[in-house]
Amino acid sequence: MNNDIYVVIEHVREQVADISYIMLAAARDLAQETGGEVVGILLGQDADGLAGDLAADKVLYGEDPALAEFTSDAYQNALAGLIRENAPRAVFFGSTTIGTDVAGVLSARLGLPLVSSCLKIDDGMIVSQICGGKIMTESNLADTTTLITMIPGGYKPEEGQGGSPEVTPVAVDVADLRVALKEYIEPEVADVDITQEDVLIAIGRGIQTEDNIELAEELAELLGGAVCASRPVVDQGWLPTPRMVGKSGQLVKPKLYLALGISGAPEHVEGMAEAENIIAVNIDPGAPIFDIAKYGAEVDLFDLIDYLLEALEDA
Ligand SMILES: Cc1cc2nc3c(=O)[nH]c(=O)nc-3n(C[C@H](O)[C@H](O)[C@H](O)COP(=O)(O)OP(=O)(O)OC[C@H]3O[C@@H](n4cnc5c(N)ncnc54)[C@H](O)[C@@H]3O)c2cc1C
Repeated sequence: MNNDIYVVIEHVREQVADISYIMLAAARDLAQETGGEVVGILLGQDADGLAGDLAADKVLYGEDPALAEFTSDAYQNALAGLIRENAPRAVFFGSTTIGTDVAGVLSARLGLPLVSSCLKIDDGMIVSQICGGKIMTESNLADTTTLITMIPGGYKPEEGQGGSPEVTPVAVDVADLRVALKEYIEPEVADVDITQEDVLIAIGRGIQTEDNIELAEELAELLGGAVCASRPVVDQGWLPTPRMVGKSGQLVKPKLYLALGISGAPEHVEGMAEAENIIAVNIDPGAPIFDIAKYGAEVDLFDLIDYLLEALEDA
């Protein structure tokens, strides 16, 4: 085993995902402890140009037509070979649909330990969330290659940008695939495109009833924004799916994200951690949303909405 820290670079539709830069920043902190290099693993076809601004010491680039679009099957095969051959100290994956799809299988297939939902690296320790973010844990690197899935919130994407790494082509084995991409289906068209809004009023289970959503709509109108939601609100059928933020919903980066009655589970945070200003409103002082919020108010959301509506209407 060597001391290098690998980062599986996630990219979709010719764009590097922010989580890749976040992982590079975390990998840098970890590499300082192990004394190794930060190595990006980039898989794709005609995708080596994406390595351009990765803050890695080098990038290993595996090219194959089977890697033109992500499939779990092809990524698993390619990465299993690279990890077995090179035995890095640790490998970062996004705690995303793509990353979790691959990391769990590789852990079982290669018999390697997996630390999930890492938020940051602190003095060489992997600080991660369990129980939906209610408990933080610290883990050491194991004596064998350690796989880590990473959630956003602990680093800014800019911290993993600005490099110009050397790109080394590597052979990848993607034979015997059982899965192929047939079609890329764009998400259904929304009444409001929440990914384009500067101001989002986000409501969670704390909103209690469908009728109460009207209050959030009023607030959004006065602030010139739109209402979005966590999954329970959408699962209840109170708002359409394109208004959902998170792992199974949209990725949003508004100037203001006012989170009302949202606990801050990792699956929700994945979709909004890069908002410029997060204001969390929650009656539970231990709610994990406060860990990533710029400002927090431990108050009843209905009291706050009443106050804001009155103040804004008078303004
Ligand atoms: C595979 C998978 C994918 C998922 N994808 C997503 C996703 O894309 N998006 C997503 O959001 N979730 C997703 N989830 C669900 C996620 O794990 C959480 O269950 C969900 O985010 C919780 O939503 P919430 O914060 O609204 O509800 P809760 O966790 O129930 O939190 C409600 C919060 O409201 C607070 N509250 C209650 N009343 C008030 C009040 N009057 N005033 C102020 N605060 C109040 C409570 O203290 C609590 O913190 C996914 C889960 C899985 C397993």
